[in-house]
This record gives sequence, structure tokens and C-alpha cells, in this order.
Amino acid sequence: MRRRCIHCLSGDVPPDAPSRVCGRCAELLVLLAELDDGIAEAPRAREPGSDDVRPPKPQPQPQPRDGAWLLWAARKKNRMHDLHRIGRERGFPRRVEDWSYAMVDVAIEALCQTATR
Ligand SMILES: [Zn+2]
Repeated sequence: MRRRCIHCLSGDVPPDAPSRVCGRCAELLVLLAELDDGIAEAPRAREPGSDDVRPPKPQPQPQPRDGAWLLWAARKKNRMHDLHRIGRERGFPRRVEDWSYAMVDVAIEALCQTATR
């Protein structure tokens, strides 16, 4: 007697198969398991008429805001002068790369305030 696949209900399961799933479905299940590992959130089912609604893009990991990052950002924004002034005023190390995360936070705040003034 032939055994039917319990997954797709149409594939033939070889008599010596370890599980009651046909070869095609077994491959599919492995593939799905691998995909599941790579995706944190399962894609949401689409509702009719919502074809224009796309799932939100995965947010990139926030960059750690250390001294090196701040230096790069200040250079990019042409705020090196402000950055060094802020560091001097607060007695931070001369090298921005040596600043701690807390110092960087303070400097970012100060830079933002300077920008809106
Ligand atoms: Zn099957």
C-alpha cells in the first residue's frame, strides 16, 4: 500500500522513509527552516487590496556612537570647529577618538544646540 505525504497529501512517501513526508516536501521544510533562521519576523499575510502596503524595512543596527564616529560625523557636517570648541569647554581629551560614549553623547547634544541657535 502506498503512503501519502502528510504534508502535501499527494506525494508518494517511500516505504523506507523516516517520516511520512515526501521528498519534495522534506526539501521544502528544510528550506523553510533555514529561511526562518534568517528572518526574525515572519512576513505578514497580505490582506486583499493592500498590495501597495509593504512591510517595514528592517532597521539597520544603530551605529555605536564613539569618538571615531563623532569625528567622522563632525567632518562630514563640517562641524569640526564646533566639536573641538565643545571638547575644550568641557575638558575632554584632545583626541576625539579618546572620548567616552558619555562624552560623545554630551558633544552630540551640544552640537545640536549650537546648530539650532
Ligand atoms: Zn509532500
